[in-house]
Order: sequence, then structure tokens, then C-alpha cells
Amino acid sequence: MTTLAPLPATPPATLIRDAALEPIAAKVEAGERLSIADGELLFSTPDIWTVCALADQVRRRLHGDAAYYNINRHLNYSNICALSCKFCEFYRKRGDEGAYERSIEEVRAEARRAIEAGATEMHIVGGLHPYLPFEYYTDLVRAIREEADAHCGAGFQPARATETVQAGSPHHNEPGRLHIKAFTAVEIVHLAKIAKVYKQHDRTAGIRWVLERLKAAGLGSLPGGGAEVFDDRVHDEAFKGKIRSDVWLDVHRVAHELGLNTNATILYGHIEDKRERLVHMDMLRRAQDVALGRMGYESMEGTEARGHEGTEGIGPITLTRPGTPLPHPDLTLRASVPSSLRPSPCGYFQTITPLPFIPDGSDLEALPGPGGLENLRTLAIARLMLDNFPHVKAFWIMQTLGMAQLMLQNGADDIDGTVVWYDITKVEGSGTHQETTAADLRHAIVEAGFEPVERDTLYRRVERDGKPWWLAE
Ligand code: SF4
Repeated sequence: MTTLAPLPATPPATLIRDAALEPIAAKVEAGERLSIADGELLFSTPDIWTVCALADQVRRRLHGDAAYYNINRHLNYSNICALSCKFCEFYRKRGDEGAYERSIEEVRAEARRAIEAGATEMHIVGGLHPYLPFEYYTDLVRAIREEADAHCGAGFQPARATETVQAGSPHHNEPGRLHIKAFTAVEIVHLAKIAKVYKQHDRTAGIRWVLERLKAAGLGSLPGGGAEVFDDRVHDEAFKGKIRSDVWLDVHRVAHELGLNTNATILYGHIEDKRERLVHMDMLRRAQDVALGRMGYESMEGTEARGHEGTEGIGPITLTRPGTPLPHPDLTLRASVPSSLRPSPCGYFQTITPLPFIPDGSDLEALPGPGGLENLRTLAIARLMLDNFPHVKAFWIMQTLGMAQLMLQNGADDIDGTVVWYDITKVEGSGTHQETTAADLRHAIVEAGFEPVERDTLYRRVERDGKPWWLAE
């Protein structure tokens, strides 16, 4: 039998060490913002392990050994879509084989099953259905909220949870029971058009109209989908007809102004180049500068305020400086900010989820899609560039659970949840039933060397006794 030699205590000299990364390492150490040129070097260096080590340094500074997961259910209410994005294998046209739309009663029943299973979140997205009326969407949200209210004893202990959500917090009126995270920015604009409130000359008014009604019905936050890559060339080639970056960012800005937290994604590995990925990340962090500025975070000393549209006087705000508190629903940081600067309540971006393009079944099937190292490097760079996003998610459904484990060591702090049903993409021939258990998620996190922490949608710690759950104090 062959005996394996022990691993060397120091890396072998044959491992590439790129000295050109040293200035970037110094910036990371100080929590300074990396430039797009820095990002280009991180993408081009052969020294991928230093890139990953730097991302791990940031991730551990922000979260220590904690790695988050949640108990959730995804719901895709319809795959019927007015558009035909080239990278999408999900959409169908009405009458196509496999086209579906869920009735409100089916949605209600799914919510009941989620609550009874102890889920803390429903994550809801769908196609841009050309015929469903606006009321379908408010009815959908309201039906889930009614189920959550009617069954709040089944999986939720309201007395303990509400104690921890302080009056004056942006989410103090969010009761904590099953949270509804629903509708990408693309869907929100579609709903504004259906409701005939979307006007090109004042698009934010229509966006606000929709979000206010969904929030009143029970919407708790927005997912991050539909961003793809913020570049007009890529937009026109791969997903023409979808909203462009400025509109996507408008939806999230208005959501933040209304006190809704949101999330962001980047769909990479198709026809975009590396610089376009970096510009996308830069646009997201600038939008987050605005949100954090409203909350009272200040720009780094000595940095120049850049004053892009709507953000005059706001410079880079990073969360990666040692000792910087992360935003949280209950944070009282904003008390020190002049009221003129902070519409209250206000939300912010919670998470960036890098999504690898999966070619199978799409119009871009001939492309290879990104490989494992490319996925690892892109996620690590997202952690380094998006210095003001609290969380980076390795979405196990699209990365695989094994890859998500590896990513926890290279910048990610979250692997998403139990999911159950997911119809958007299927990796390696998987079907729509893509469920894992909380035990499997916890095992994967422990095996990767981290402490599993169950969270709710707003990253508050959850404690549970079987299915009943409450927010940790
Ligand atoms: S990506 Fe979204 S908008 Fe585009 S075709 Fe698919 S479901 Fe429709």
C-alpha cells in the first residue's frame, strides 16, 4: 500500500506568487476600495490562490467563522414570459409544452406547506407574464401573508421575535414570520407597465407606485435577479427587451427609500468580458454607497466624493475597514445623520450572488460556460470589489453544494437555503425538485471548517426547536 507524503508546512516554491498583487494586498489590509484596474489584475494573474486568500481575509474580517444558511422555499409562479433572453432555458410561451401559471390557491397551499415545514422565507420570481393583471401579484403576496398570520404558531413564536425588532428600526413593522422576498427589478417594471403607471419621463413614480402596493400587501424584500451584466452591448446581444442597468438600479434605490432591503446578482460567463464584470460590480457598490450614506455611514477619510447622478457628495463607503459595523435591520447608526440626508426608513443591499451562466437548453448552448476555477475566482473578486456589501452568497443550486463549500473558504459567507422547488436552472440534469435539508447544509458548512448559522432573510440569527423558530437575541 502506498503511503502519502505529509503536506509541506510551507507552499512549494513551484506555486506561483505574483508580486504585482502586493499593492492590492496592502489595500485589502487597510480596507480601501480596489480600482477597476486592480480588478483586472485579479482576473489576469496566474496566482489565483492569492486572490482567494485575500477574499478569505475580508470574509473572515466581516464574519469570522460564521457561515449562513436559511430554511426557505422558492416559488416560480409562472414560466410564461413575454421576452426570450438568449441565456434563459426557463421561459415558455403560452401554449408551449411545459408552460404553467400557479393559481392564488396553489400559491396559498405552497405557503402553508412552507410554514408547516418551519421555513422562514419564500423566495418568489417568475417570467414576465403578458396577461396576468396587476392584482394577481398583490393577491399572491397577500395570500401568503394571510397564511403566515393564520399559522404563525406553527413555525414561529411571535412574542420572542417581535421583542428583538425595535420600534424605529426600518423593519419594526415587519412581523418576522414567513418573510416574502419576491419579484426582481425586471418584474417590478413589468408590473408597472401592466398597471399602466410606468412613464418613461418619470419612471421612478411608477416603480414607487408598485412597490408601495406590494409592500402594503406584505412584501418584505427584493431578490437580486435580472441584473445580468450592466453593459449595453451585452444587454442588446443577450437579453434585449429587458430593462437596462439604470432602470434596474432605480428599482433598488426606490426600494431602499421605502425601507425594503434588496439583493444583487451578476450572471457571468457568457458573452461579457472581464472588464464588463468589473464595471457591473463598480456600479453596484456605487449604488450601495448611496444607501449606506443615507444610513449614516461616512466615506473613507481622504477619498474624493465622486458625485455621479443622484449621489453628489457621496464618496466610497466601505464596510471592510477593520472595526466597521455591518448594517443590520436594528442598527441605530442613522441617529447621527442630518434628517435631510436620510429618508426614513431606509434599506440597503444585503448580498451579492455571482451566478454562473449554465448553457444547457438556452440559445447560447454552444458556449462552454464558466469552469470551476473561473467560478471560484469570480466569487473571490466579487468579495474584494464589493467592499460595501455585507454578504457574498455561493448559491449552491447553481454552483453545486461541493463548490459552495469551497467558496466558503474563498470569500462566500452564505450558501442559501433548503430551496425545495427551483425551476430557473438545472445543473447536471437535475429536475425542478431541488431540495436539500438543513442538516445537509449544516454538515456541508462544518465540513468546510465554519460555524453554521441559521439566518432569516434579513440576516438576523434564527433559533429553533424543530419547526418552531424565533429570532435570537
Ligand atoms: S430571463 Fe427572465 S425575462 Fe428573460 S426570458 Fe427568462 S424569464 Fe423571461
